Amino acid sequence: RIGIAMTAHLWLPYTQMQTAAAPLRAARTAGARIILDDGRELIDAVSSWWTACHGYNHPHIVMAMERQLHTMPHVMFGGLVHEPAETLAARLAVMLPGPLNRVFFADSGSVAVEVAMKMAIQYRINRGETGRTRFLSFRDGYHGDTMAAMSVTDPDEGMHALFRGYLPEQVIAPLPRDDASAGEFRRLLDAHKREIAAIIVEPLVQGAGGMKMHDPAVLKTIADSAKEAGVLLICDEIAVNFGRTGTLFAHTQAGIAPDIICLGKALTGGAINLAATVATADVFDAFLSDAADAALMHGPTYMASPLACAAANASLDLFDTEPRLQQVAAIEAQLKHELAPLGNIPGVVDIRVKGAIGAVEVTNLHDLDWLKAQFIDAGIWLRPFGNVIYTMPPFTITSAELSAITGAIADILPRWAARKA
Ligand code: PLP
Repeated sequence: RIGIAMTAHLWLPYTQMQTAAAPLRAARTAGARIILDDGRELIDAVSSWWTACHGYNHPHIVMAMERQLHTMPHVMFGGLVHEPAETLAARLAVMLPGPLNRVFFADSGSVAVEVAMKMAIQYRINRGETGRTRFLSFRDGYHGDTMAAMSVTDPDEGMHALFRGYLPEQVIAPLPRDDASAGEFRRLLDAHKREIAAIIVEPLVQGAGGMKMHDPAVLKTIADSAKEAGVLLICDEIAVNFGRTGTLFAHTQAGIAPDIICLGKALTGGAINLAATVATADVFDAFLSDAADAALMHGPTYMASPLACAAANASLDLFDTEPRLQQVAAIEAQLKHELAPLGNIPGVVDIRVKGAIGAVEVTNLHDLDWLKAQFIDAGIWLRPFGNVIYTMPPFTITSAELSAITGAIADILPRWAARKA
């Protein structure tokens, strides 16, 4: 009863509150599992919105946070810096390839994207180039829920029609996957390059837009075209950073050199919110001036929170001390093997695997609530959306737990298909 009263005051994300079923109540987390307050245990197939790459409650992260909690949970970042942030920035600068070495911390992925966009526009202004205030982004892309981030998200996903007149109008191109789409991308870039501050792209996997995957060659085409056209390249790695696609950062598989990169989600191993926008020396240098208004005018209240930086530093330790990338390779092999047979189920149109991401695309994801309930009954926390049933498990998931996820998909999908749209 108390529980019902509490939920009555919450406004839930992406939820039609009039018709939605009551949400489940989580009580604890452990390893790859979420334990509900009625005692049921669910294997988390989606790592809490793709964050919990080491599983939940990893003792190394918990201990680092406990230590930080007693020393200094938070302090403002204006006029003050601290060791956890300095260490984290220095480590990220070493881990990231090339001259990506200036780290601006934010408190969420969407804000990191906003900061990247602001940087790109002001980079132009500071260099005396006027009129370059637009972005080229891609269909099926997703960059967050704040307004500027929505404007570079796919027009449907970003609800451009609903918010028309309020969102800045960007140039939205197809990913250059084949001759026709490459031609369209180049035509749009050429037509608008003098108004464009930067191209923004999710490297290798467009996550929230439907787990759409592309070859490194596609990314290379984008990066080469950006260079040719003289526009900056922003890689939004928030969904895929820290090993998800098999390498620590996805864009390195294409051997490209972005000007700005956005990090988030798994940056703290899923323990607490933190994001970062990392720029090259070239971008940073454009903000150095005698003029005060050439500075980057941004500063989220909780930016670089010491508690979050301590969690992120501990998460980075785990990439050194535990075999994360080998685990991702093993997950990739297992997903390929166990998802392949599902191609025969009526309604399944594509099966895609990249690193620790497995997606089964169907023609029409009908009966979504029924589908979600079936997975919960099977002990799996899995959130189909768009037309995809996908998993992005913690890298520490056991092979038996992963088989439980793919087994549940294999069991439930034929029954779902039999229900018809
Ligand atoms: N960029 C990408 C690629 C994302 O997948 C997301 C979240 O799903 C975001 C940005 C926004 O991050 P946040 O939800 O932390 O604001």
